[in-house]
Amino acid sequence: MIMKLKFLLKTYYPALLTLIILTAFSIFAFHEVHQAVSIRRAKLFQMRVQQATETIGNRMQDYIQILKGCQSVFYATDSVRERDWKAYTDNLNVSLNYPGFQAIAYAVHIKKNQWAALENTIRKNGHAQFAIRSTFKDEYLTPIIFIEPFNMRNLRAFGYDMYSETNRRRAMDRAIVTGQASMTRKVTLIQETGDNNQPGFLLYLPVYRNPEEIRTVDDRINNIKGFVYNAFRAHDLMAAMLKPFDDIDVKVFDGAVHSKKNLLYDSGARAPNEKKYNEGDFEFKADTSINIAGQQWNLHITSHKNFGSLIERRQPGIVLMFGLAITVLLFILAVSIIKRKSEVLEELNLSKELEHKKDEFIGIASHELKTPLTSIKAYMQMLERAELKDKEKSLLQKANDQIKKLNKLIGDLLDVSKIQAGKLQINAAPFLLGDLLNDSIENVQHIYSSHEIVKSANVPVVTLIGDKFRLEQAITNLLINAVKYSPRANKVYVDAVLLKDRVSIKVCDEGIGIPEKYQKQIFDKFYRAEELSPSMSGLGMGLYIANEIIKQHHGELSVKSEVGKGSIFAIELPLNH
Ligand code: ADP
Repeated sequence: MIMKLKFLLKTYYPALLTLIILTAFSIFAFHEVHQAVSIRRAKLFQMRVQQATETIGNRMQDYIQILKGCQSVFYATDSVRERDWKAYTDNLNVSLNYPGFQAIAYAVHIKKNQWAALENTIRKNGHAQFAIRSTFKDEYLTPIIFIEPFNMRNLRAFGYDMYSETNRRRAMDRAIVTGQASMTRKVTLIQETGDNNQPGFLLYLPVYRNPEEIRTVDDRINNIKGFVYNAFRAHDLMAAMLKPFDDIDVKVFDGAVHSKKNLLYDSGARAPNEKKYNEGDFEFKADTSINIAGQQWNLHITSHKNFGSLIERRQPGIVLMFGLAITVLLFILAVSIIKRKSEVLEELNLSKELEHKKDEFIGIASHELKTPLTSIKAYMQMLERAELKDKEKSLLQKANDQIKKLNKLIGDLLDVSKIQAGKLQINAAPFLLGDLLNDSIENVQHIYSSHEIVKSANVPVVTLIGDKFRLEQAITNLLINAVKYSPRANKVYVDAVLLKDRVSIKVCDEGIGIPEKYQKQIFDKFYRAEELSPSMSGLGMGLYIANEIIKQHHGELSVKSEVGKGSIFAIELPLNH
Protein backbone atom coordinates (compact mmCIF):
# COMPACT_ATOMS: atom_id res chain seq x y z
CA MET A 1 0.00 0.00 0.00
CA ILE A 2 2.71 2.45 1.11
CA MET A 3 4.91 1.29 -1.76
CA LYS A 4 2.15 1.95 -4.23
CA LEU A 5 1.59 5.39 -2.74
CA LYS A 6 5.32 6.10 -3.00
CA PHE A 7 5.33 4.96 -6.61
CA LEU A 8 2.31 7.14 -7.43
CA LEU A 9 3.95 10.12 -5.73
CA LYS A 10 7.20 9.56 -7.62
CA THR A 11 5.47 9.18 -10.98
CA TYR A 12 2.90 11.92 -10.64
CA TYR A 13 4.82 14.49 -8.61
CA PRO A 14 4.96 17.04 -11.50
CA ALA A 15 1.14 16.88 -11.71
CA LEU A 16 0.84 17.17 -7.94
CA LEU A 17 3.25 20.08 -7.95
CA THR A 18 1.15 21.77 -10.66
CA LEU A 19 -1.94 21.16 -8.54
CA ILE A 20 -0.40 22.57 -5.37
CA ILE A 21 1.21 25.61 -7.01
CA LEU A 22 -1.86 26.54 -9.04
CA THR A 23 -4.20 26.01 -6.08
CA ALA A 24 -1.99 28.21 -3.94
CA PHE A 25 -1.90 30.77 -6.73
CA SER A 26 -5.72 30.67 -7.08
CA ILE A 27 -6.15 31.19 -3.35
CA PHE A 28 -3.62 34.01 -3.41
CA ALA A 29 -5.42 35.63 -6.36
CA PHE A 30 -8.74 35.20 -4.54
CA HIS A 31 -7.29 36.81 -1.44
CA GLU A 32 -5.82 39.74 -3.39
CA VAL A 33 -8.99 40.39 -5.37
CA HIS A 34 -11.06 40.02 -2.22
CA GLN A 35 -8.86 42.55 -0.48
CA ALA A 36 -9.04 45.03 -3.37
CA VAL A 37 -12.81 44.62 -3.66
CA SER A 38 -13.23 45.10 0.12
CA ILE A 39 -11.21 48.33 0.02
CA ARG A 40 -13.19 49.60 -2.97
CA ARG A 41 -16.47 48.67 -1.29
CA ALA A 42 -15.45 50.34 1.98
CA LYS A 43 -14.64 53.55 0.08
CA LEU A 44 -17.93 53.35 -1.78
CA PHE A 45 -19.74 52.87 1.53
CA GLN A 46 -18.06 55.95 3.02
CA MET A 47 -19.16 57.91 -0.02
CA ARG A 48 -22.74 56.69 0.31
CA VAL A 49 -22.75 57.59 4.02
CA GLN A 50 -21.58 61.08 3.19
CA GLN A 51 -24.11 61.46 0.40
CA ALA A 52 -27.00 60.27 2.59
CA THR A 53 -25.99 62.59 5.44
CA GLU A 54 -25.66 65.54 3.08
CA THR A 55 -28.97 64.76 1.43
CA ILE A 56 -30.79 64.93 4.77
CA GLY A 57 -28.88 68.03 5.93
CA ASN A 58 -29.39 69.90 2.67
CA ARG A 59 -33.06 69.04 2.49
CA MET A 60 -33.66 70.32 6.03
CA GLN A 61 -31.91 73.55 5.07
CA ASP A 62 -34.34 73.80 2.15
CA TYR A 63 -37.24 73.55 4.61
CA ILE A 64 -35.76 76.30 6.77
CA GLN A 65 -35.48 78.39 3.62
CA ILE A 66 -39.13 77.74 2.83
CA LEU A 67 -40.04 78.89 6.32
CA LYS A 68 -38.04 82.06 5.80
CA GLY A 69 -40.23 82.75 2.77
CA CYS A 70 -43.30 82.22 4.94
CA GLN A 71 -41.84 84.52 7.60
CA SER A 72 -41.41 87.21 4.95
CA VAL A 73 -45.13 87.06 4.16
CA PHE A 74 -45.77 88.28 7.70
CA TYR A 75 -43.09 90.93 7.48
CA ALA A 76 -44.47 92.21 4.17
CA THR A 77 -47.88 93.09 5.61
CA ASP A 78 -49.35 93.56 9.08
CA SER A 79 -52.51 91.69 8.44
CA VAL A 80 -52.00 88.31 6.77
CA ARG A 81 -55.35 86.73 6.04
CA GLU A 82 -56.07 83.05 5.74
CA ARG A 83 -56.43 83.26 1.97
CA ASP A 84 -53.08 85.10 1.64
CA TRP A 85 -51.50 82.25 3.55
CA LYS A 86 -53.22 79.68 1.35
CA ALA A 87 -52.25 81.51 -1.83
CA TYR A 88 -48.64 81.73 -0.77
CA THR A 89 -48.29 78.17 0.43
CA ASP A 90 -50.24 76.77 -2.53
CA ASN A 91 -47.80 78.52 -4.77
CA LEU A 92 -44.90 76.77 -3.05
CA ASN A 93 -46.52 73.47 -3.91
CA VAL A 94 -44.46 71.87 -1.18
CA SER A 95 -46.29 68.58 -0.95
CA LEU A 96 -45.39 67.88 -4.54
CA ASN A 97 -41.86 69.24 -4.49
CA TYR A 98 -40.96 68.00 -1.00
CA PRO A 99 -42.65 64.72 -0.10
CA GLY A 100 -43.03 63.90 3.59
CA PHE A 101 -44.22 67.35 4.34
CA GLN A 102 -47.35 67.18 6.51
CA ALA A 103 -48.26 70.80 7.10
CA ILE A 104 -47.08 74.33 6.67
CA ALA A 105 -48.81 76.46 9.25
CA TYR A 106 -48.88 79.57 11.38
CA ALA A 107 -49.51 79.67 15.12
CA VAL A 108 -50.18 82.92 16.82
CA HIS A 109 -48.59 83.88 20.15
CA ILE A 110 -51.32 85.35 22.39
CA LYS A 111 -52.01 86.05 26.00
CA LYS A 112 -54.57 83.84 27.71
CA ASN A 113 -57.01 86.70 28.00
CA GLN A 114 -57.10 87.03 24.18
CA TRP A 115 -58.40 83.42 23.86
CA ALA A 116 -62.12 84.23 23.40
CA ALA A 117 -61.50 87.20 21.11
CA LEU A 118 -59.34 85.12 18.80
CA GLU A 119 -61.89 82.33 18.66
CA ASN A 120 -64.59 84.82 17.77
CA THR A 121 -62.58 86.42 14.99
CA ILE A 122 -61.80 83.05 13.37
CA ARG A 123 -65.33 81.80 13.74
CA LYS A 124 -66.50 84.97 11.98
CA ASN A 125 -64.02 84.30 9.19
CA GLY A 126 -65.82 81.15 8.15
CA HIS A 127 -64.75 78.54 10.72
CA ALA A 128 -67.85 78.41 12.89
CA GLN A 129 -66.60 75.35 14.78
CA PHE A 130 -63.19 76.82 15.56
CA ALA A 131 -62.05 76.32 19.14
CA ILE A 132 -58.71 76.68 20.81
CA ARG A 133 -57.61 73.42 22.40
CA SER A 134 -55.13 73.84 25.19
CA THR A 135 -54.03 72.04 28.31
CA PHE A 136 -51.46 74.62 29.15
CA LYS A 137 -52.10 76.61 32.25
CA ASP A 138 -49.89 79.55 31.57
CA GLU A 139 -50.08 83.13 30.55
CA TYR A 140 -49.46 82.52 26.88
CA LEU A 141 -51.00 80.33 24.17
CA THR A 142 -49.81 79.46 20.66
CA PRO A 143 -52.86 78.14 18.81
CA ILE A 144 -52.59 77.19 15.15
CA ILE A 145 -54.71 79.50 13.10
CA PHE A 146 -53.52 78.93 9.50
CA ILE A 147 -52.71 75.46 8.26
CA GLU A 148 -52.17 74.17 4.75
CA PRO A 149 -53.10 71.93 3.08
CA PHE A 150 -56.43 72.32 4.85
CA ASN A 151 -57.33 68.64 4.79
CA MET A 152 -58.93 66.24 7.28
CA ARG A 153 -55.63 65.30 8.85
CA ASN A 154 -54.48 68.90 9.33
CA LEU A 155 -57.90 69.95 10.58
CA ARG A 156 -57.08 67.96 13.73
CA ALA A 157 -54.32 70.47 14.42
CA PHE A 158 -56.38 73.57 13.63
CA GLY A 159 -56.82 75.54 16.89
CA TYR A 160 -54.34 73.38 18.83
CA ASP A 161 -52.22 75.30 21.31
CA MET A 162 -48.72 74.04 20.81
CA TYR A 163 -47.58 75.41 24.17
CA SER A 164 -49.70 72.59 25.64
CA GLU A 165 -46.88 70.19 24.90
CA THR A 166 -43.43 70.63 26.49
CA ASN A 167 -41.39 69.47 23.55
CA ARG A 168 -43.01 71.91 21.17
CA ARG A 169 -42.94 74.68 23.75
CA ARG A 170 -39.24 74.21 24.30
CA ALA A 171 -38.52 74.51 20.58
CA MET A 172 -40.76 77.54 20.22
CA ASP A 173 -39.18 79.30 23.18
CA ARG A 174 -35.74 78.61 21.74
CA ALA A 175 -36.93 80.09 18.44
CA ILE A 176 -38.12 83.23 20.24
CA VAL A 177 -34.84 83.70 22.05
CA THR A 178 -32.50 82.94 19.14
CA GLY A 179 -34.56 84.38 16.34
CA GLN A 180 -33.47 81.30 14.34
CA ALA A 181 -35.20 78.19 13.06
CA SER A 182 -35.77 75.72 15.85
CA MET A 183 -36.67 72.07 15.63
CA THR A 184 -38.55 69.93 18.14
CA ARG A 185 -37.39 66.57 19.31
CA LYS A 186 -39.33 63.52 18.23
CA VAL A 187 -43.08 64.10 18.73
CA THR A 188 -46.33 62.52 17.62
CA LEU A 189 -48.12 64.99 15.43
CA ILE A 190 -51.63 66.05 16.43
CA GLN A 191 -52.50 65.08 12.85
CA GLU A 192 -51.82 61.39 13.57
CA THR A 193 -55.07 59.47 13.63
CA GLY A 194 -53.78 56.54 15.66
CA ASP A 195 -53.82 54.37 12.61
CA ASN A 196 -50.29 53.62 11.39
CA ASN A 197 -48.80 56.45 13.44
CA GLN A 198 -45.36 57.73 12.55
CA PRO A 199 -42.88 59.71 14.61
CA GLY A 200 -42.85 63.36 13.64
CA PHE A 201 -41.16 66.65 14.33
CA LEU A 202 -41.78 70.34 13.79
CA LEU A 203 -39.58 73.11 12.54
CA TYR A 204 -40.38 76.63 13.80
CA LEU A 205 -39.34 80.07 12.73
CA PRO A 206 -40.41 83.03 14.90
CA VAL A 207 -42.38 85.99 13.53
CA TYR A 208 -41.88 89.24 15.42
CA ARG A 209 -43.71 92.49 15.53
CA ASN A 210 -41.55 95.36 14.22
CA PRO A 211 -38.76 93.00 13.15
CA GLU A 212 -36.50 95.86 12.07
CA GLU A 213 -36.36 97.18 15.63
CA ILE A 214 -35.39 93.93 17.27
CA ARG A 215 -31.88 93.94 18.73
CA THR A 216 -31.81 92.01 21.99
CA VAL A 217 -33.20 88.84 23.46
CA ASP A 218 -35.66 90.94 25.47
CA ASP A 219 -36.81 92.67 22.28
CA ARG A 220 -37.47 89.22 20.84
CA ILE A 221 -39.40 88.04 23.90
CA ASN A 222 -41.47 91.20 24.05
CA ASN A 223 -42.25 91.32 20.35
CA ILE A 224 -43.05 87.73 19.53
CA LYS A 225 -46.12 87.60 17.32
CA GLY A 226 -46.31 83.99 16.25
CA PHE A 227 -44.53 81.14 14.45
CA VAL A 228 -44.44 79.81 10.97
CA TYR A 229 -43.68 76.12 11.08
CA ASN A 230 -43.50 72.93 9.13
CA ALA A 231 -44.78 69.64 10.47
CA PHE A 232 -43.22 66.44 9.20
CA ARG A 233 -44.09 62.77 9.35
CA ALA A 234 -40.58 61.34 9.74
CA HIS A 235 -41.05 58.07 7.91
CA ASP A 236 -42.67 59.62 4.84
CA LEU A 237 -40.10 62.39 4.73
CA MET A 238 -37.00 60.23 5.16
CA ALA A 239 -38.24 57.46 2.88
CA ALA A 240 -38.69 60.02 0.08
CA MET A 241 -35.30 61.65 0.74
CA LEU A 242 -33.41 58.37 0.98
CA LYS A 243 -35.13 56.67 -1.93
CA PRO A 244 -31.94 56.66 -4.06
CA PHE A 245 -30.07 54.96 -1.18
CA ASP A 246 -31.51 51.50 -1.51
CA ASP A 247 -28.09 49.90 -0.97
CA ILE A 248 -27.78 51.14 2.62
CA ASP A 249 -29.98 51.06 5.69
CA VAL A 250 -30.30 54.27 7.64
CA LYS A 251 -31.54 54.75 11.18
CA VAL A 252 -32.11 58.31 12.33
CA PHE A 253 -32.03 58.92 16.08
CA ASP A 254 -33.18 62.10 17.65
CA GLY A 255 -30.31 62.90 20.03
CA ALA A 256 -27.11 61.12 20.87
CA VAL A 257 -28.58 57.96 22.41
CA HIS A 258 -29.37 55.15 19.98
CA SER A 259 -32.53 53.99 21.71
CA LYS A 260 -35.89 52.84 20.48
CA LYS A 261 -37.41 55.89 22.19
CA ASN A 262 -35.21 58.18 20.13
CA LEU A 263 -35.63 56.31 16.85
CA LEU A 264 -37.07 58.73 14.35
CA TYR A 265 -36.70 56.62 11.25
CA ASP A 266 -35.48 53.17 10.23
CA SER A 267 -35.17 52.47 6.53
CA GLY A 268 -34.75 48.78 7.34
CA ALA A 269 -38.39 48.64 8.38
CA ARG A 270 -41.11 48.72 5.75
CA ALA A 271 -43.57 50.12 8.21
CA PRO A 272 -42.30 52.09 11.22
CA ASN A 273 -42.49 49.06 13.54
CA GLU A 274 -41.67 46.28 11.17
CA LYS A 275 -38.13 44.98 10.65
CA LYS A 276 -37.02 44.03 7.17
CA TYR A 277 -33.67 42.48 8.03
CA ASN A 278 -31.83 41.07 11.00
CA GLU A 279 -29.66 43.26 13.18
CA GLY A 280 -25.99 42.65 12.49
CA ASP A 281 -26.67 41.39 9.00
CA PHE A 282 -24.33 43.85 7.30
CA GLU A 283 -20.76 44.29 6.08
CA PHE A 284 -20.09 47.97 6.80
CA LYS A 285 -21.44 50.40 9.37
CA ALA A 286 -20.91 54.05 10.20
CA ASP A 287 -22.30 56.66 12.59
CA THR A 288 -22.66 60.28 11.64
CA SER A 289 -24.57 63.24 12.98
CA ILE A 290 -26.23 66.37 11.62
CA ASN A 291 -27.08 69.55 13.49
CA ILE A 292 -30.37 71.03 12.37
CA ALA A 293 -32.04 74.00 13.91
CA GLY A 294 -30.81 73.46 17.46
CA GLN A 295 -31.15 69.68 17.44
CA GLN A 296 -28.76 66.91 16.69
CA TRP A 297 -29.75 63.90 14.67
CA ASN A 298 -27.54 60.83 14.79
CA LEU A 299 -27.42 58.56 11.82
CA HIS A 300 -26.53 54.90 12.13
CA ILE A 301 -25.87 53.60 8.63
CA THR A 302 -25.23 50.00 7.62
CA SER A 303 -24.63 48.45 4.24
CA HIS A 304 -27.47 46.49 2.76
CA LYS A 305 -27.14 42.91 1.56
CA ASN A 306 -27.12 44.08 -2.06
CA PHE A 307 -24.49 46.79 -1.44
CA GLY A 308 -22.21 47.49 -4.42
CA SER A 309 -22.38 45.92 -7.84
CA LEU A 310 -23.20 42.24 -8.10
CA ILE A 311 -20.27 41.59 -10.46
CA GLU A 312 -17.88 43.21 -8.02
CA ARG A 313 -19.24 41.24 -5.08
CA ARG A 314 -18.85 38.02 -7.02
CA GLN A 315 -15.44 38.93 -8.45
CA PRO A 316 -13.31 37.15 -5.80
CA GLY A 317 -15.47 34.03 -6.03
CA ILE A 318 -15.29 34.08 -9.83
CA VAL A 319 -11.50 34.45 -9.70
CA LEU A 320 -11.25 31.52 -7.29
CA MET A 321 -13.58 29.31 -9.31
CA PHE A 322 -11.81 30.15 -12.54
CA GLY A 323 -8.39 29.55 -10.97
CA LEU A 324 -9.47 26.22 -9.50
CA ALA A 325 -11.09 25.14 -12.77
CA ILE A 326 -7.85 25.85 -14.68
CA THR A 327 -5.89 24.10 -11.91
CA VAL A 328 -8.02 20.98 -12.16
CA LEU A 329 -7.85 21.00 -15.97
CA LEU A 330 -4.08 21.36 -15.98
CA PHE A 331 -3.79 18.69 -13.31
CA ILE A 332 -5.86 16.26 -15.38
CA LEU A 333 -3.80 17.17 -18.44
CA ALA A 334 -0.53 16.64 -16.57
CA VAL A 335 -1.75 13.30 -15.19
CA SER A 336 -2.78 12.07 -18.62
CA ILE A 337 0.52 13.20 -20.19
CA ILE A 338 2.50 11.42 -17.46
CA LYS A 339 0.32 8.35 -17.81
CA ARG A 340 0.79 8.29 -21.59
CA LYS A 341 4.54 8.82 -21.17
CA SER A 342 4.89 5.91 -18.80
CA GLU A 343 2.73 3.78 -21.11
CA VAL A 344 4.98 4.64 -24.06
CA LEU A 345 8.07 3.89 -21.97
CA GLU A 346 6.57 0.60 -20.94
CA GLU A 347 5.75 -0.25 -24.56
CA LEU A 348 9.27 0.71 -25.55
CA ASN A 349 10.78 -1.47 -22.86
CA LEU A 350 8.54 -4.31 -23.87
CA SER A 351 9.47 -4.00 -27.54
CA LYS A 352 13.16 -3.78 -26.61
CA GLU A 353 12.76 -6.91 -24.55
CA LEU A 354 10.98 -8.66 -27.39
CA GLU A 355 13.68 -7.56 -29.81
CA HIS A 356 16.30 -8.90 -27.45
CA LYS A 357 14.44 -12.19 -27.11
CA LYS A 358 14.11 -12.43 -30.89
CA ASP A 359 17.84 -11.88 -31.38
CA GLU A 360 18.54 -14.44 -28.72
CA PHE A 361 16.25 -16.92 -30.44
CA ILE A 362 17.86 -16.31 -33.84
CA GLY A 363 21.28 -16.91 -32.28
CA ILE A 364 20.21 -20.16 -30.63
CA ALA A 365 18.20 -21.39 -33.65
CA SER A 366 20.97 -20.78 -36.16
CA HIS A 367 23.46 -22.45 -33.86
CA GLU A 368 21.21 -25.50 -33.51
CA LEU A 369 20.68 -25.64 -37.29
CA LYS A 370 24.39 -25.55 -37.96
CA THR A 371 25.06 -28.94 -36.27
CA PRO A 372 22.76 -31.15 -38.38
CA LEU A 373 23.87 -29.26 -41.47
CA THR A 374 27.51 -30.13 -40.79
CA SER A 375 26.52 -33.79 -40.50
CA ILE A 376 24.59 -33.60 -43.79
CA LYS A 377 27.63 -32.05 -45.45
CA ALA A 378 29.82 -34.94 -44.20
CA TYR A 379 27.39 -37.52 -45.55
CA MET A 380 27.32 -35.74 -48.91
CA GLN A 381 31.11 -35.88 -49.09
CA MET A 382 31.01 -39.57 -48.36
CA LEU A 383 28.45 -39.99 -51.14
CA GLU A 384 30.67 -38.06 -53.59
CA ARG A 385 33.37 -40.65 -53.07
CA ALA A 386 31.01 -43.49 -53.92
CA GLU A 387 30.64 -44.86 -57.49
CA LEU A 388 27.72 -42.93 -58.93
CA LYS A 389 26.03 -42.72 -62.24
CA ASP A 390 26.05 -39.40 -64.10
CA LYS A 391 22.43 -38.72 -63.30
CA GLU A 392 23.06 -39.33 -59.57
CA LYS A 393 26.18 -37.16 -59.68
CA SER A 394 24.21 -34.26 -61.10
CA LEU A 395 21.51 -34.68 -58.44
CA LEU A 396 24.21 -34.76 -55.76
CA GLN A 397 25.70 -31.57 -57.17
CA LYS A 398 22.31 -29.84 -56.98
CA ALA A 399 21.83 -31.00 -53.41
CA ASN A 400 25.28 -29.65 -52.57
CA ASP A 401 24.42 -26.25 -54.08
CA GLN A 402 21.24 -26.04 -51.98
CA ILE A 403 23.16 -27.01 -48.87
CA LYS A 404 25.64 -24.21 -49.58
CA LYS A 405 22.75 -21.74 -49.82
CA LEU A 406 21.28 -23.10 -46.59
CA ASN A 407 24.67 -22.88 -44.97
CA LYS A 408 24.97 -19.25 -46.02
CA LEU A 409 21.52 -18.48 -44.68
CA ILE A 410 22.33 -19.97 -41.30
CA GLY A 411 25.68 -18.19 -41.33
CA ASP A 412 23.93 -14.90 -42.03
CA LEU A 413 21.48 -15.46 -39.17
CA LEU A 414 24.36 -16.17 -36.82
CA ASP A 415 26.18 -13.04 -37.99
CA VAL A 416 23.13 -10.84 -37.45
CA SER A 417 22.83 -12.03 -33.89
CA LYS A 418 26.60 -11.49 -33.41
CA ILE A 419 26.32 -7.93 -34.74
CA GLN A 420 23.39 -7.28 -32.42
CA ALA A 421 25.39 -8.52 -29.47
CA GLY A 422 28.43 -6.50 -30.64
CA LYS A 423 30.39 -9.69 -30.99
CA LEU A 424 31.26 -9.69 -34.69
CA GLN A 425 34.98 -10.32 -34.65
CA ILE A 426 37.46 -8.94 -37.16
CA ASN A 427 40.72 -10.84 -37.50
CA ALA A 428 42.97 -8.51 -39.46
CA ALA A 429 45.79 -9.76 -41.70
CA PRO A 430 47.35 -8.58 -45.01
CA PHE A 431 45.93 -9.94 -48.27
CA LEU A 432 45.89 -9.02 -51.94
CA LEU A 433 42.95 -7.15 -53.36
CA GLY A 434 42.97 -9.40 -56.43
CA ASP A 435 42.66 -12.51 -54.25
CA LEU A 436 39.73 -11.00 -52.39
CA LEU A 437 37.86 -10.30 -55.63
CA ASN A 438 38.71 -13.65 -57.25
CA ASP A 439 37.64 -15.67 -54.23
CA SER A 440 34.40 -13.73 -53.86
CA ILE A 441 33.56 -14.15 -57.56
CA GLU A 442 34.35 -17.84 -57.40
CA ASN A 443 32.06 -18.34 -54.38
CA VAL A 444 29.13 -16.95 -56.30
CA GLN A 445 29.92 -18.17 -59.77
CA HIS A 446 30.07 -21.63 -58.35
CA ILE A 447 26.43 -21.55 -57.27
CA TYR A 448 24.90 -19.06 -59.71
CA SER A 449 25.68 -20.08 -63.23
CA SER A 450 22.93 -17.93 -64.80
CA HIS A 451 25.21 -14.86 -64.92
CA GLU A 452 28.78 -14.32 -65.95
CA ILE A 453 30.64 -12.27 -63.35
CA VAL A 454 33.02 -10.10 -65.32
CA LYS A 455 36.02 -8.72 -63.48
CA SER A 456 37.79 -5.64 -64.78
CA ALA A 457 41.20 -6.33 -66.25
CA ASN A 458 42.71 -3.32 -64.42
CA VAL A 459 42.31 -4.39 -60.82
CA PRO A 460 45.28 -2.74 -59.06
CA VAL A 461 47.78 -4.94 -57.35
CA VAL A 462 47.54 -3.75 -53.79
CA THR A 463 47.79 -5.32 -50.37
CA LEU A 464 45.06 -4.56 -47.89
CA ILE A 465 44.93 -5.26 -44.20
CA GLY A 466 41.67 -6.62 -42.81
CA ASP A 467 39.58 -9.69 -42.26
CA LYS A 468 39.63 -11.21 -45.76
CA PHE A 469 37.02 -13.79 -44.82
CA ARG A 470 34.52 -11.11 -43.68
CA LEU A 471 35.23 -8.80 -46.63
CA GLU A 472 34.75 -11.74 -48.97
CA GLN A 473 31.42 -12.36 -47.26
CA ALA A 474 30.39 -8.71 -47.89
CA ILE A 475 31.39 -8.77 -51.59
CA THR A 476 29.74 -12.17 -52.01
CA ASN A 477 26.49 -10.70 -50.64
CA LEU A 478 26.67 -7.86 -53.16
CA LEU A 479 27.39 -10.27 -56.01
CA ILE A 480 24.53 -12.60 -55.05
CA ASN A 481 22.16 -9.58 -54.95
CA ALA A 482 23.45 -8.37 -58.34
CA VAL A 483 22.66 -11.77 -59.83
CA LYS A 484 19.37 -12.17 -57.96
CA TYR A 485 17.97 -8.75 -58.84
CA SER A 486 18.91 -8.77 -62.54
CA PRO A 487 16.89 -11.74 -63.76
CA ARG A 488 16.88 -10.53 -67.36
CA ALA A 489 20.57 -9.86 -67.61
CA ASN A 490 23.34 -12.37 -67.84
CA LYS A 491 26.33 -10.37 -66.69
CA VAL A 492 27.48 -8.75 -63.49
CA TYR A 493 30.59 -6.52 -63.41
CA VAL A 494 33.25 -6.14 -60.75
CA ASP A 495 35.73 -3.31 -60.86
CA ALA A 496 38.32 -1.88 -58.48
CA VAL A 497 40.27 1.38 -58.62
CA LEU A 498 42.92 2.89 -56.46
CA LEU A 499 42.10 6.33 -55.08
CA LYS A 500 44.42 8.57 -53.09
CA ASP A 501 44.26 6.74 -49.77
CA ARG A 502 41.51 4.29 -50.51
CA VAL A 503 40.54 1.54 -52.74
CA SER A 504 37.08 1.51 -54.32
CA ILE A 505 35.43 -1.78 -55.25
CA LYS A 506 32.26 -1.66 -57.37
CA VAL A 507 29.68 -4.35 -58.10
CA CYS A 508 27.46 -3.36 -61.04
CA ASP A 509 24.38 -5.02 -62.44
CA GLU A 510 21.85 -4.32 -65.15
CA GLY A 511 18.89 -5.35 -63.05
CA ILE A 512 15.64 -3.91 -61.71
CA GLY A 513 17.31 -1.05 -59.82
CA ILE A 514 16.19 0.58 -56.53
CA PRO A 515 13.98 3.68 -56.27
CA GLU A 516 15.66 6.55 -54.46
CA LYS A 517 13.21 6.52 -51.55
CA TYR A 518 14.36 2.98 -50.55
CA GLN A 519 18.09 3.49 -51.08
CA LYS A 520 18.76 4.35 -47.41
CA GLN A 521 16.52 1.71 -45.83
CA ILE A 522 17.91 -1.29 -47.71
CA PHE A 523 20.90 -1.29 -45.30
CA ASP A 524 18.59 -1.78 -42.30
CA LYS A 525 18.27 -5.14 -40.61
CA PHE A 526 15.60 -7.40 -42.22
CA TYR A 527 14.54 -4.65 -44.62
CA ARG A 528 13.32 -5.81 -48.01
CA ALA A 529 11.86 -3.67 -50.78
CA GLU A 530 9.33 -6.45 -51.29
CA GLU A 531 7.01 -4.57 -53.65
CA LEU A 532 9.83 -4.25 -56.21
CA SER A 533 10.79 -7.89 -56.19
CA PRO A 534 7.90 -9.88 -54.78
CA SER A 535 8.97 -13.14 -56.39
CA MET A 536 12.56 -12.97 -55.17
CA SER A 537 13.17 -14.68 -51.88
CA GLY A 538 15.42 -13.32 -49.16
CA LEU A 539 15.44 -12.23 -45.53
CA GLY A 540 16.88 -8.74 -45.76
CA MET A 541 20.14 -9.62 -44.00
CA GLY A 542 22.74 -9.46 -46.78
CA LEU A 543 23.21 -5.69 -47.04
CA TYR A 544 22.92 -5.23 -43.28
CA ILE A 545 25.78 -7.66 -42.64
CA ALA A 546 27.87 -6.30 -45.56
CA ASN A 547 27.45 -2.75 -44.28
CA GLU A 548 28.42 -3.74 -40.73
CA ILE A 549 31.56 -5.56 -41.97
CA ILE A 550 32.63 -2.53 -44.05
CA LYS A 551 31.97 -0.21 -41.12
CA GLN A 552 34.13 -2.41 -38.89
CA HIS A 553 36.90 -1.85 -41.47
CA HIS A 554 36.36 1.92 -41.28
CA GLY A 555 35.08 1.86 -44.81
CA GLU A 556 31.84 2.88 -46.47
CA LEU A 557 29.20 1.05 -48.44
CA SER A 558 27.01 3.12 -50.79
CA VAL A 559 24.57 2.59 -53.62
CA LYS A 560 23.73 4.35 -56.86
CA SER A 561 20.80 3.00 -58.74
CA GLU A 562 18.22 3.76 -61.41
CA VAL A 563 14.99 1.83 -61.64
CA GLY A 564 15.00 -0.50 -64.65
CA LYS A 565 18.62 0.18 -65.50
CA GLY A 566 20.63 -1.35 -62.72
CA SER A 567 22.54 -0.68 -59.56
CA ILE A 568 26.13 0.04 -58.52
CA PHE A 569 27.17 -0.90 -54.99
CA ALA A 570 30.48 0.68 -54.03
CA ILE A 571 32.79 -0.34 -51.16
CA GLU A 572 35.47 2.13 -50.14
CA LEU A 573 38.20 0.83 -47.86
CA PRO A 574 41.03 2.84 -46.36
CA LEU A 575 44.49 1.69 -47.46
CA ASN A 576 46.47 2.38 -44.33
CA HIS A 577 44.23 0.94 -41.74
P1 ADP B 1 17.57 -9.81 -49.47
O1 ADP B 1 18.32 -9.80 -50.76
O2 ADP B 1 17.70 -11.07 -48.74
O3 ADP B 1 16.21 -9.34 -49.57
P2 ADP B 1 19.45 -7.73 -48.76
O4 ADP B 1 19.76 -7.07 -47.46
O5 ADP B 1 20.61 -8.35 -49.48
O6 ADP B 1 18.28 -8.76 -48.50
O7 ADP B 1 18.85 -6.63 -49.68
C1 ADP B 1 17.84 -5.81 -49.19
C2 ADP B 1 16.91 -5.36 -50.30
O8 ADP B 1 17.64 -4.47 -51.18
C3 ADP B 1 16.43 -6.41 -51.19
O9 ADP B 1 15.26 -7.04 -50.73
C4 ADP B 1 16.19 -5.71 -52.51
O10 ADP B 1 14.91 -5.18 -52.57
C5 ADP B 1 17.21 -4.61 -52.50
N1 ADP B 1 18.43 -4.88 -53.31
C6 ADP B 1 19.63 -5.30 -52.83
N2 ADP B 1 20.52 -5.39 -53.86
C7 ADP B 1 19.86 -5.06 -54.97
C8 ADP B 1 20.23 -4.95 -56.35
N3 ADP B 1 21.47 -5.24 -56.76
N4 ADP B 1 19.29 -4.55 -57.25
C9 ADP B 1 18.05 -4.23 -56.82
N5 ADP B 1 17.65 -4.32 -55.53
C10 ADP B 1 18.53 -4.72 -54.62
